[in-house]
Amino acid sequence: MATIPFDDRDGSIWMNGGLRPWRDANIHVLSHALHYASCVFEGERVYAGEIFKLREHTERLIESARILGFRIPYTADEIDAACKETVAAQGFKDGYVRPVAWRGSEMMGVSAQATKINLAIAVWEWPSYFDPEERLKGIRLDMAEYRRPAPDTAPCKSKAAGLYMICTISKHAAENKGYADAMMLDYRGYVAEATGANMFFVKDGALHTPMPDCFLDGITRRTVIDLAKARGIEIIERHIKPEEMSDFEQCFITGTAAEVTPVSEIGPYTFTPGEITKTLMNDYMALVNRTGSVAAA
Ligand code: PMP
Repeated sequence: MATIPFDDRDGSIWMNGGLRPWRDANIHVLSHALHYASCVFEGERVYAGEIFKLREHTERLIESARILGFRIPYTADEIDAACKETVAAQGFKDGYVRPVAWRGSEMMGVSAQATKINLAIAVWEWPSYFDPEERLKGIRLDMAEYRRPAPDTAPCKSKAAGLYMICTISKHAAENKGYADAMMLDYRGYVAEATGANMFFVKDGALHTPMPDCFLDGITRRTVIDLAKARGIEIIERHIKPEEMSDFEQCFITGTAAEVTPVSEIGPYTFTPGEITKTLMNDYMALVNRTGSVAAA
């Protein structure tokens, strides 16, 4: 897949207080974040020029940093304004926003008390390639070898770069076997999440979703729960054993990037996208102002 390298694009990136030319938004090789993963980030979507749930993402970014023990030197209002400024500068109507905060180069070692906290925001185009009928076929997920770590093992409520190491390994292993993504269990062996999205299942007209007690309680996840409640669909948040997947009829994942994406297979388990999945796909698309809907069956 030919993509333009991310360090060689036109436009501007907001970095440490203002916009600078895209190719000049660089860090030194001796940055603490690169060596010790002292880095947190967000992933946001721009729909028709508006960043969806911007404040919630900004608050999660600040909280992710706080969990890692550092304070981003900007207020939520300032970060929101910087995100909007970057979107306006890039001029994309449909795009992806990546705020990232990290410890700099002032110290090199596990201890990093005196490092400067940096913040950058990049925006890239993400056109609306959504084809509902194509998406309804569902994606295939592998079962990941790695598990989500226990809360006393890693800062699992932070959207921290370091937590994605096992996601990239798991996703690569899945892709090498022809799957789109991998589903991870948690440290107890319960169903947890995909490598960058939350999980939902449908059984007897109700939605079942894992309790987010050791992984990200996604903003899309919470949005979809609200949409389901508005439709009178019962939501059951609980621990789910992998073998229960044989009784589930439908499955979908949710995330800023994934939106609502039906799943047709997870390892040995198969699912058929049905009415509830279609309804929530359509409701989510309507909420984010995207065109295209799935025909009712
Ligand atoms: N889990 C992980 C590991 C993720 O990276 C993401 C994407 N941020 C999610 C869940 C979904 O979160 P959100 O809906 O806030 O994008």
